[in-house]
Amino acid sequence: MATLERDVVIIGAGPTGLTAAHELRKAGKTVAVLEARDRVGGRTWTDVIGGATIEIGGQWISPDQTGLYSLLEEFGIETYPRHKEGTSVFVGPDGKRIEYTGEDFPIAPEKVAEMDKLIAVMDELAAQIDPDRPWEHARAEELDMISFHHWLRTLTDDEDAATNIGLFIAGGMLTKPAHTFSALQALLMAASAGSFSNLVNEDFILDRRIVGTMQGVSKTVAAHLGEDVVFLNNPVLKLDWSEEGVTAYGATVTVSAKKAIVAVPPNLYSRISYNPPLPRKKHITHQHQSMGLVIKVHAVYDTPFWRAKGLSGTGFAPTQIVSEVYDNTFYEDTRGTLVGFISDVHADAMFELSEEERKARILADLANFLGDEALTPEVFYLSDFGSEEWTRGAYATSYDLGGLFRFGPDQSVPTGAIHWASSDLAGEGYQHVDGAVRMGRRTAALIIAALDG
Ligand code: FAD
Repeated sequence: MATLERDVVIIGAGPTGLTAAHELRKAGKTVAVLEARDRVGGRTWTDVIGGATIEIGGQWISPDQTGLYSLLEEFGIETYPRHKEGTSVFVGPDGKRIEYTGEDFPIAPEKVAEMDKLIAVMDELAAQIDPDRPWEHARAEELDMISFHHWLRTLTDDEDAATNIGLFIAGGMLTKPAHTFSALQALLMAASAGSFSNLVNEDFILDRRIVGTMQGVSKTVAAHLGEDVVFLNNPVLKLDWSEEGVTAYGATVTVSAKKAIVAVPPNLYSRISYNPPLPRKKHITHQHQSMGLVIKVHAVYDTPFWRAKGLSGTGFAPTQIVSEVYDNTFYEDTRGTLVGFISDVHADAMFELSEEERKARILADLANFLGDEALTPEVFYLSDFGSEEWTRGAYATSYDLGGLFRFGPDQSVPTGAIHWASSDLAGEGYQHVDGAVRMGRRTAALIIAALDG
C-alpha cells in the first residue's frame, strides 16, 4: 500500500477528472487520480470487437461544444464528419416506411405545424434559461412540478406531435420515460445545447467524431500527465474529510491532500463512505440524481450497403424499439457500421429476452429502416453500461420531478475540502463530454484560486 501526499486527489479518471488534473498540473499543483477501472475514459470507451473499432460510450461532438474543441486543439486531436449524404427514412406508427429529405418528418402538414409550434415554445423558454442556473428562471418552480409528458399535453391536443417531441429529450437524451422528469429538466437539456432546435437536429448534435476515438482523448490527457499521477484499479470506497483536507483510500494507494475532486457520476457518490458523514442536504440531494438507461446498438457490415441505395443511414421510428439509426462507419473503415439506440422501458424489455431473441428483434427494426441486408451483420454488439459497476446506467444522471429546482442550487457547492464535478452537473454541455471538460476546468480553477489565495 503506497501512501502519497498531494495538493489535490481526484476520484475518477473520466474526462472530468482528467481535465481537472491537467489544469491543476499546468498551475504547478501536485495531483493523484484514483480510478476504479483498469482503464481511463469512464463513459467514453472503445474496444475492437470482431476486428471492428466500436465506440461503446460517448463519441459525437457538436459545433457548440467549444470546451471539448479547445481541449482537442490543445492536444492536436482531429475530428471527422459523420456520413450524412443521402435520404433519411421514417417509419410511422402504422409501420409504413417513407424516404425523405430535409428536417421535417414526412407526416401530415398539420402535425408538422404542431411540432413546429412546440419547438418554438421550447426554444423561447430555453433561450431564457441559464443552463448553469435553470432554477433561477421565473417559472422554474412551476416547470419543475410537471412532468415533461404532461406539460407537452398542456400545449397541444395532438398526441403524435407530443410523442414525437417528447422522444427527442426522453428516449433521445435523458433516456428516461417523459413522465419521470420535469419540463424544467427537459428545458435544461435544450438550453445546454443552445436551443431545442439544435438538440433535435441530428446534423448538429451528432455532427463530428474524433479521429482516434473519444476515449482516445482521455488516454492522450492521461499519458500527458505522466508517471505516478493516474492510479488504475483503485476504487475509492472511503474518504476522510474536513475543511482543511482529505484522505482518499484506494485499493493500493492512499492519498492525503488539501482538496479532493469527486469526479464520478452522481449516482455513485453514495458508493463512497464519507467520514464524517456528509451534511444532510448532500445526503438527500444525492438520492435524487439517477441514471437513465439506453442500449447503444452496433452492427457492422462488409459494406455500407445503404449508401448504394442512396440512403444516408439515418432513420427515425418513434414507435419502434430501435427508434433511431445512423451511419456510424469508423474513420477510414471500408466496412459499414450502423448505430441505433433503445431507451428506457424498451431497454428493460430487450433485457428480458434471450440473447438470440434480442438480436433478432433489434435486427428486424434495423431492416425496417434500411432493408433486409441489415439482418446479417458481421459484428453485432450492444453497449450495456447498466451492467457496469462504475457507471450503472447511460447516458447520464438527471433529477426526478421537482429535484432540479429543490436540489440543483446545492449540487456543486463544495463540502469542506471536497469538490463535486461531473458532466452531469454541467450547464453548457450537460451530460456530454464537453460538459465534463468544462466542469473539470471550472473546478480546477476554483481550487487553484483557493490554494493560491
Ligand atoms: P465518467 O465518464 O463516468 O467518468 C467517471 C470515472 O469515475 C469513471 O472512469 C469511473 O470508473 C470512475 N469511478 C466511479 N466511481 C469511482 C470510485 N468510487 N473510485 C474511483 N473511480 C471511480 N457524450 C458526448 O459528448 N457525446 C456522445 O456521443 C455521447 N454518447 C454517449 C453514449 C453512451 C453509451 C454513454 C454511456 C455516454 C455518452 N455520452 C456522450 C456521455 C459522456 O460519455 C459523459 O458525459 C462523460 O463521459 C462524463 O465524463 P465524467 O468524467 O463526468 O464521468
